[in-house]
Amino acid sequence: MPPKKNDTALTPDSPVTSLAGISETRGKLFEKMGVRTLTDLCRHYPRGYEMRGRVTTTADAKNGEAVSLLLTVGTQPKVTTIRRGMILTRFTAFDECGTATITYFNQPYLRDAFAVGSTYRFFGRCERGAGNRLSLNSPKHEPVPLSDPGDGSTLPSVYPIYRATAGLTQKLISGAVEKALAVVFPPDKEIPDPLPDDLRREYGLCGYTYAIRNIHLPENEAVLDAARKRLIFEELTLFSLGLRRRRYLRSQYDAPVMFAPDMTPFFSAQPYDLTGAQKRAVADFLRDMTVGEPAGGGENFSTDKSSKPPMNRLLSGDCRPANIAPKPPMNRLLSGDVGSGKTVCAAAALYIALANGYQAALMAPTEILATQHFEDLAPMFARLGFGCELLVGSTKAKDKTSIKSRLASGELPLVIGTHALLEDNVVFLNCGLVITDEQHRFGVGQRAALAKKAAHLHTLIMSATPIPRTMALMMFGDLDMSVLDELPPGRQKVSTFTVDESYRERLNGFIRKQVTEGHQVYIVCPAIDDCPAIEENEDDMIGDDGLPAAADDSRPTLKAAVAYAEQLQREVFPDLSVGFLHGKMKPAEKDAVMHRFTTGEVMILVSTTVIEVGVNVPTATLMVVENAEYFGLSQLHQLRGRVGRGRDKSWCILVSESKTEHARERLSIMCKTNNGYEIAEKDLELRGPGDFFATNTGDTAALDVRQSGGLRFTVASFCDDMEMVQNAFAAADRVMAEDPALETEKYRPMKEALARAFGEIVL
Ligand code: ADP
Ligand code: MG
Repeated sequence: MPPKKNDTALTPDSPVTSLAGISETRGKLFEKMGVRTLTDLCRHYPRGYEMRGRVTTTADAKNGEAVSLLLTVGTQPKVTTIRRGMILTRFTAFDECGTATITYFNQPYLRDAFAVGSTYRFFGRCERGAGNRLSLNSPKHEPVPLSDPGDGSTLPSVYPIYRATAGLTQKLISGAVEKALAVVFPPDKEIPDPLPDDLRREYGLCGYTYAIRNIHLPENEAVLDAARKRLIFEELTLFSLGLRRRRYLRSQYDAPVMFAPDMTPFFSAQPYDLTGAQKRAVADFLRDMTVGEPAGGGENFSTDKSSKPPMNRLLSGDCRPANIAPKPPMNRLLSGDVGSGKTVCAAAALYIALANGYQAALMAPTEILATQHFEDLAPMFARLGFGCELLVGSTKAKDKTSIKSRLASGELPLVIGTHALLEDNVVFLNCGLVITDEQHRFGVGQRAALAKKAAHLHTLIMSATPIPRTMALMMFGDLDMSVLDELPPGRQKVSTFTVDESYRERLNGFIRKQVTEGHQVYIVCPAIDDCPAIEENEDDMIGDDGLPAAADDSRPTLKAAVAYAEQLQREVFPDLSVGFLHGKMKPAEKDAVMHRFTTGEVMILVSTTVIEVGVNVPTATLMVVENAEYFGLSQLHQLRGRVGRGRDKSWCILVSESKTEHARERLSIMCKTNNGYEIAEKDLELRGPGDFFATNTGDTAALDVRQSGGLRFTVASFCDDMEMVQNAFAAADRVMAEDPALETEKYRPMKEALARAFGEIVL
């Protein structure tokens, strides 16, 4: 027999398995969620709440809503067996407004649990059937005590819902959390508060211990709100502080010294004139990367014939002239909607480094994108006299060896590739600039490796995710920003429509028409096998909106990419070539399909969102998005950006069966505008700032960048108050002004919290 677990010996660092009832097996399940110690458990905040205190009546309960009802059992529960051995326990119950039918599945023992005449609080999703009859399937139930005044107020009003995995029930988790709280945050112990008193007073925030206890076990909704507000504020303040620290630390490095080169050869090598926005971005790079003013200064530098002669190409960091003061490295984000022309700007930055005799690297998250960049840029740089190679996972071993040795010797000035560039044996003689495209799509480990390798180099990050300015200033507080807010001339709008299933046949006809005219068609589905928006379901799982997840059969049919591709090929387009693409395919397989699609051999490509970013097939003219309501607006916008890239008129058809006003409003925004920044602003307005801090939503991808430092938001996704976000960031400013190194006793708990949240990256 295992030794009896003794609660009095527990410390905040004790493993969860030291709690009674948590076996090693369960401990492993907790570990899967990142919970090892009792302290971890206290920080495993609920992902949603059941607001069972919001009691309604049988008259007011609306179809499909999660409701809480106080009902008296009216009939003796009856047990019946239906098809496939399914056992139903069913009875009716009433309140003063009417009756409801209550049904439980496969729990025959419940027959004896409900006595006629006794009152319960039932909580669950209700349905209105024929004749407006109300029914509840497997609702949660709690007996209402006799002492209750009749409104259920003697019962707890808020129940936490935890992120869970199979094998851990909500009850088990909340029980364990309660015990952990008693150890880590005992009522009689003063725990240092990361937010100092004056700050809390100014913004009306409750104390740390109170907040942690009540985020888990709130007595009522008001208390929960206070706890949440406080923890969100803290999270955002720490986040902002972390960014500021990171910026400060990077500014301590001396960057490779560069001078403003004559950009004329570069601009002459482009087939078009740069837009005003592009010129401004390049001017930003010149200002950041070079010492002294850019030749000619301002926006006109590119055409100024009096500019200085090209800089000595052999100049490297080792032979810096003695009188030149070093500069911190460029640390800039180039943000621009799909098609805004980021590539040529990136190329200009590369040129600045190369013209100064430095090597440079451009890194993309996939082989497809890296190859595309290589094909775009290598010929142009060759004309300018700079060799360029592609280094990706599938590069032949022999070529890899050669590229690496030429990088190490300095013979090869420019390399474009994937994270293969981050391998330890890729060494540059004198690298001056690293550019990453869509950095948020790199893994956390890869981003950390990059941060380590390139901290002292000029860096440029490109992102195609338009984000509202107010959010961008906060979310990218550690980076300078250049925004391409102007599209190259002559772009045509992608006509966008929302349709439902009744349009299916016409849609298929339209797909065929595009293909017959020699174009390619994308069809995007939510996921491979299932929809990511719906989590693995525990019986009692409730969404963040406080609603129980809908039962399987009430969900719209989700189109799974592989199965749908097969079905289309078999039943609808037997004479056309249908391919599919999804994230779980090997890179080589993906590339092969993509290649066949680019050449037109595959005409219809059914895909998950893996094709979202950067893929360029100019002859594709139609983007169909299935179950469009499952995608965020920014994501839809990204998907739409895959078409309209060539000369031909292009369309985006959003297929959705959703009738909710919210979904309809969101999709209608897509139909109204093609401007990504406008869409992002609307999205912010409709969904609130919380979504920008949400993890794993598959949307607002730019924000994933922010998790690269280690900080994962835990409560900020609940934030629906823009003013609070601004206050939290202002508070960080104040802290930085008062004590930037967080050296004083006042900020010691904050410093510790910051270290916990960000790890070594910022401290
Ligand atoms: P993104 O910002 O999405 O990476 P790209 O750099 O791929 O955009 O540019 C999209 C297309 O626009 C490319 O075909 C590119 O050649 C073209 N382009 C970029 N800048 C201009 C410009 N100033 N004038 C005309 N075409 C341009
Ligand atoms: Mg691009």
